[in-house]
Amino acid sequence: MKDSLESLRGEIAARVGRFSNEQEIDQLRVEYLGRKGKLTLMLRSLKEVPVKERPKIGNQLNRLRSYLEEQIETGLKELRVREKERLLREERIDISLPGSRLERGSIHPITLMMDEIIDVFLGMGFEIARGPDIEDDYHNFEALNIPKDHPARDMQDTFFVTDGRLLRTHTSPVQIRVMETRQPPLQIIAPGAVYRHDDDSTHSPIFHQVEGFMVDHHITFRDLKGVLTHFLHQIFQKEIKVRFRPSFFPFTEPSAEVDIECLLCSGKGSPSAQQSCRVCKGSGWLEILGSGMIDPSVFQFVGYSPEKFSGFAFGMGVERIAMLKFRIEDIRLFFQNDIRFLRQFR
Ligand SMILES: [Zn+2]
Repeated sequence: MKDSLESLRGEIAARVGRFSNEQEIDQLRVEYLGRKGKLTLMLRSLKEVPVKERPKIGNQLNRLRSYLEEQIETGLKELRVREKERLLREERIDISLPGSRLERGSIHPITLMMDEIIDVFLGMGFEIARGPDIEDDYHNFEALNIPKDHPARDMQDTFFVTDGRLLRTHTSPVQIRVMETRQPPLQIIAPGAVYRHDDDSTHSPIFHQVEGFMVDHHITFRDLKGVLTHFLHQIFQKEIKVRFRPSFFPFTEPSAEVDIECLLCSGKGSPSAQQSCRVCKGSGWLEILGSGMIDPSVFQFVGYSPEKFSGFAFGMGVERIAMLKFRIEDIRLFFQNDIRFLRQFR
């Protein structure tokens, strides 16, 4: 027994140390510590050893087993460290490989258009004002000279929220809010989102407007024409023809619809003798914004004296201008967030 213990010790000492892989370790474990392993069998046959020697040999066998277990444990640890080092050494980053590219965003065409419009007015000395998207009936309708039974309310399909609150149908209530709190001279634009129950290729339930107004002593229709003509020349092109056509809005008197010559047919109305222009439907003109002299009754709502002050106001749809300028035929494209559409405006 003593001899075989000696030779087993020698055998084990020769096998441990540096292992080349985990199988080698597994094999060693099975060979010596498995159910039929050499060391296991020796421990089992301990009862055949004379009682006198049994504790000593038992002790040595146990120590040999702990030694082997320890060696196996360290061997495994070492193998893992070596494997990690090998990976670090061999798996270099190949900087010549093409990387995964980040998709670059672009500014939304409506934001681009809005910024451009705002820029032109800032250049003329206007300042920006903003108002709430959720308005009350008073500011959205009443104070703009649109009483409860006024037919103009039908022109604006309103989203009602609750308790007389609604999603503003135009940016005009900002006019009221500014005039309620400030005194002339005023030269303001109010950009923002507006909401109407309307949905087709030229109408969206949410769209954007830029409202503008100027109030002071002696503001005349001539000022309105000058400001808006300059604006349209800046946004489209210097020589574009502009015309003011009588119209009606409850909050302005007199009112004028403003047209520019058609961008597609340059005002000719028909590109050939056979067909009329599909953009202007043959008229040669494109409706671009609404305007007028602020109605004296609106001044009374905000406590201005119509004898002392006069002013003009105008409002335009940002989507409409962008559609004409970028030649876009369906307003819904602005809201579908199709990256192929949006990236064209980079
Ligand atoms: Zn045309």
